[in-house]
Amino acid sequence: MAQSPTAEDDQRFLDLAIEQASMSWDEGGVPIGAVLVHQGRVLAAGHNQRVQKGSAILHAETDTIERAGRLSAGVYRESVLYTTLSPCLMCAGTALLYGIPRVVVGENRSFEMSEALLRERGVSVDVLDDARCRALMERMIVERPEIWSEDIGVESSELDR
Ligand SMILES: [Zn+2]
Repeated sequence: MAQSPTAEDDQRFLDLAIEQASMSWDEGGVPIGAVLVHQGRVLAAGHNQRVQKGSAILHAETDTIERAGRLSAGVYRESVLYTTLSPCLMCAGTALLYGIPRVVVGENRSFEMSEALLRERGVSVDVLDDARCRALMERMIVERPEIWSEDIGVESSELDR
C-alpha cells in the first residue's frame, strides 16, 4: 500500500515544481511548474510550454503528465500531482480522467477554477499557500499580462487587476 507523503515530502516536491516554474519564467514563459509523484518517486517534472513550444494545451500539469509518458491506470491512481498554481479545468480534467487521487497546490489566490469540481469527484486537494508561488504569479500578472490572459482563455482587458 502506498505510504502517505509527509508535510516535508509535500514541501520537497513543491520545491521541484517551483524550480520548474522559475525555469519557465527565465525562458520567457509562464511561471507555473508541476511534478507527478508515484509512491514517493518523481515520475516527471514539467512546466507551462505556451511560449516555449507555442502550445495551446501544455500547461504545467499537462506537460508533466505528457512527459511521464504512458502509464497504467493503477500508477495514476497511486500518484500525486503537485502544481505551483491551482489547476484550470483542462488540467483538472486530465487529473480526473486518469484518476489521480490527490493534487497539491502551491497557491490559489492568483487563480482558482477547479477545486470544487476536483473535490466533488473525490480528489483530495491540499493548498499550501506558498509565498514563492504567489510571488511568481504576481510578477507574471504585472509583467506579462498578455501571455497570462491567453493561458487562461481570456482577453487581457478581462483580467481582474
Ligand atoms: Zn491548466
